[in-house]
Amino acid sequence: MEEADVKKYTEISKLGEFGLIKHLTDKIELLQPSTLKGVGDDAAVIAPPAAGEVMLLSTDMMAEGIHFELTYTPLRHLGYKTVAVNVSDICAMNGEPTQVVVSIAVSNQYSVESLDEIYKGIKFACKEYKVDLVGGDTTSSRSGLVIDVTILGKAPKEKVVYRNGAKPGDLLCVSGDLGASYAGLLLLEHARKAVGADPAKKPELQGYGYVLQKQLMPRARVDIVEMFRASDVVPTSMIDISDGLASEIHHICNASQTGCLLEELKVPIHEETTKVAKENGVPPSLFALSGGEDYELLFTINPADLKKLKEAGMITVIGEILPAEDGIMIAAKDGKMHPLAVQGWDGLKAK
Ligand code: ADP
Ligand code: MG
Repeated sequence: MEEADVKKYTEISKLGEFGLIKHLTDKIELLQPSTLKGVGDDAAVIAPPAAGEVMLLSTDMMAEGIHFELTYTPLRHLGYKTVAVNVSDICAMNGEPTQVVVSIAVSNQYSVESLDEIYKGIKFACKEYKVDLVGGDTTSSRSGLVIDVTILGKAPKEKVVYRNGAKPGDLLCVSGDLGASYAGLLLLEHARKAVGADPAKKPELQGYGYVLQKQLMPRARVDIVEMFRASDVVPTSMIDISDGLASEIHHICNASQTGCLLEELKVPIHEETTKVAKENGVPPSLFALSGGEDYELLFTINPADLKKLKEAGMITVIGEILPAEDGIMIAAKDGKMHPLAVQGWDGLKAK
């Protein structure tokens, strides 16, 4: 082999802590006017929000072997996803993301180049969502990788949407389609097992681009929040779908002290998701109800607001909020009503 063909990996210890931080945070572009000082001092400096606005603050941590498997997660995608899931939480409050800090704990088995890949994904996401990376912390771990992202956002105070504002008669709506991320995870898990049993085997992932993308690189629905602003509609309640539709409906109904009727036939499911579900002998609606990691928005609106929504095609009405005494129900495909169960996916998904 020519020497040029040999990929060179740089040990983290070669750069040292300060060298590594400088390397990873080099050439960060700052886009938010409220960022007065980003990386490089003891603290970032952020201007307070404008009069009538509030700040939103959230954090989400991802640990190797729990939230992601490096065998099939490209590091760049991982970096992107850690930022996107945080942006999603700000969207779920009907807010606009502004800054993130990113902390990583990493074992010495990682190279500088592998961290570069993670940061490429982080920076790509920051650019896409117009979020400034303004700081973080870097430490070593005994084994494995942990990435923790904390995000700041803002919103006009009266436009912040909580989980607890749903009222009987409101429409229950969802953005995009559901279950795709779980379908993607299932494909990747099967591929990992197949390759583990026979390393010569190439996993068959052709034709599943949509569900793989939803699992590896989910996009936060900033476009839906923009649509609410443009339509002058404020949802009565909202949550992002990280744990599966059924679980999130329970969160909204419990917080709002309401019941609800979900119509199973109305839940939007992508054709690739349906295909993967059928190949695994599972009803596709089970992926949508219990799959998780969709990062779509689940929200309720006053029915009078439905016609005000510009680009109403971006959302689907899947049910209605009921008084608490009616319970949290699903009208199944056969027309029968059942209490909406929250099912876990033991075994496959460690969450
Ligand atoms: P201190 O010892 O004062 O905490 P550090 O040496 O940890 O300072 O960090 C120096 C600067 O680099 C700070 O602005 C910090 O926010 C930033 N920083 C450190 N680690 C990261 C990282 N992984 N990603 C982004 N910024 C980082
Ligand atoms: Mg520090």
